[in-house]
Amino acid sequence: MKTGTAADHDKLPAVIVVLAGGVGAARYLRGVLRVVSPDDVTIIGNTGDDFRIYGVHVSPDLDIVTYTLTGRIDEEKGWGLAGDTTVLLDEMRAAGLNAWFHLGDRDFGVCLARTEMLAAGASLSDATARISERFGLAPRLLPMTDDEVGTRVVLANGEDVHFQEYWVGRKAADPVRSVYLGGADTSRPAPGVVDAIASASAILIAPSNPVVSIGTILAVPGIREALTASSARVVGVSPIVGGAPVRGMADKLMPAAGAPVTAVGAALLLRDVLDGYVIDLVDENLAGDVEALGLDVAVAQTMMRTVEDAAALAKVALTMTEHR
Ligand code: GDP
Ligand code: CA
Repeated sequence: MKTGTAADHDKLPAVIVVLAGGVGAARYLRGVLRVVSPDDVTIIGNTGDDFRIYGVHVSPDLDIVTYTLTGRIDEEKGWGLAGDTTVLLDEMRAAGLNAWFHLGDRDFGVCLARTEMLAAGASLSDATARISERFGLAPRLLPMTDDEVGTRVVLANGEDVHFQEYWVGRKAADPVRSVYLGGADTSRPAPGVVDAIASASAILIAPSNPVVSIGTILAVPGIREALTASSARVVGVSPIVGGAPVRGMADKLMPAAGAPVTAVGAALLLRDVLDGYVIDLVDENLAGDVEALGLDVAVAQTMMRTVEDAAALAKVALTMTEHR
């Protein structure tokens, strides 16, 4: 069954794979799902942010995507469930714990369910499928890997901390030397990931952080190779608009990855897998520099203030996947 407007579906390619981080990806995906049927969409989600805290396995990016696409997200924060309470965290704090990672009560329940499934022998893919079903998520959501990985941030003083500790715990205050995906070497793409890429007719890279959302997906051995081998064209959207991230910490992490904080820098980090890149209207003067990287360029409104904005942006990117 197709949803949305039939006229929109007619011209755009089906069987679409979207590489996704958290908030930027979720907002973009809302637009993608306005213009193509959810049955045709496979989302490959970043699990570099995953970690264990308070006894549970947290998958921040998978949950942000799930909550956003099922209308359950706390819109203001961009993560967590709308209307969630914080009794568990309040109680931990009252007992004197430094409960620095925010997790609402119902959100905690989702993470606890995931943890129990994993403890009972389920893979992260299995657990993700069950949680997707519980929320009524229409497109298929696959974690990039079922293996235990974690994004690590090496600080200027040599300390090596998990991304969550850097970002949430220390509020991105420390200068960064480098970023890597811990456990990448022995990780494999989750079941279905390589097949989805190989059989896709269009591949989209969401306007997610190029280092800690997309870079980590590409760090799983086999995914980058699958993308370059796929006959489908790969089109991304710049998360950097006017020389700054729309939100988040990309400005702190891109220089550590050797890229300037511009749409060109974002394209540079992903150029080996990209065929085309969509940059914002305010960055029109950079179009030539992105083209010089060997990419097709589209200049469009990329600020997603509404779902309609996101849908229009998705259409631009999907149309680009058809050009040869
Ligand atoms: P996170 O894991 O929650 O940080 O989310 P992502 O990695 O998916 O997205 C973070 C990136 O999304 C940031 O670099 C933002 O600049 C970008 N972003 C957020 N909203 C928008 C938007 O409306 N337009 C564009 N072009 N980028 C956006
Ligand atoms: Ca994230």
